[in-house]
Amino acid sequence: MSDLARQLFGDDVPAKRLALIVDLDDTVCTGFACPLRAAIEVLVRIDRQKVEVHFVTARTEVSQKGTDEFIMEYRLPGYRNVHYCPKWQGTKRHKTEVHARLAREYQVIASIGDTDDEEGEASRLASVPFILVDRDKPDGAWVVVAQLIEAVQGFRVEATT
Ligand SMILES: [Mg+2]
Repeated sequence: MSDLARQLFGDDVPAKRLALIVDLDDTVCTGFACPLRAAIEVLVRIDRQKVEVHFVTARTEVSQKGTDEFIMEYRLPGYRNVHYCPKWQGTKRHKTEVHARLAREYQVIASIGDTDDEEGEASRLASVPFILVDRDKPDGAWVVVAQLIEAVQGFRVEATT
C-alpha cells in the first residue's frame, strides 16, 4: 500500500488481488506442448477467483495458437493472461518489465521458472519471491508453489461426494 493510499483509505484499502507468475517452457511443458505433470496438477487446482495466473514467456505471438491450444487442452487457468515477448524486445527485458508491472497491480505470491538469469532476475528486481525449476527434477519447485497457494487458501475446495 502506498503512503497516499493509506492516508486516504486507512486500513480499509482492499488488498490487491493475488497472482502467480508462471513461465511456460521447461516449467509447465517441455518441447512446446508436452505437459509437466506436476505443473498441470497444481495449476488446475487453483481457484481462479482467488489467484490469477499470469504466464510470462519468451514466446512471441507467433506461438499464440499452439499456446492457446495447450492451455485449453489441459484446462489451465490464465488463458487470457499470456504475456508474449514483443518481437522487438529481448526476453530478459520483457520478463523484467512484466514482472514489475504485475508486482504493482497484484500481490504476487511467487514467480516460478527454470531460468534464474531471466525470470529469477526479473523477480528479484520486482521483489517477488522466485522459485527455480530444476529441469531434471521439476516436481520439487511445484511442491513449493503448491504450499504457497495452500497458505493463501488459493485452491478450489473440492466437493466431496
Ligand atoms: Mg523457461
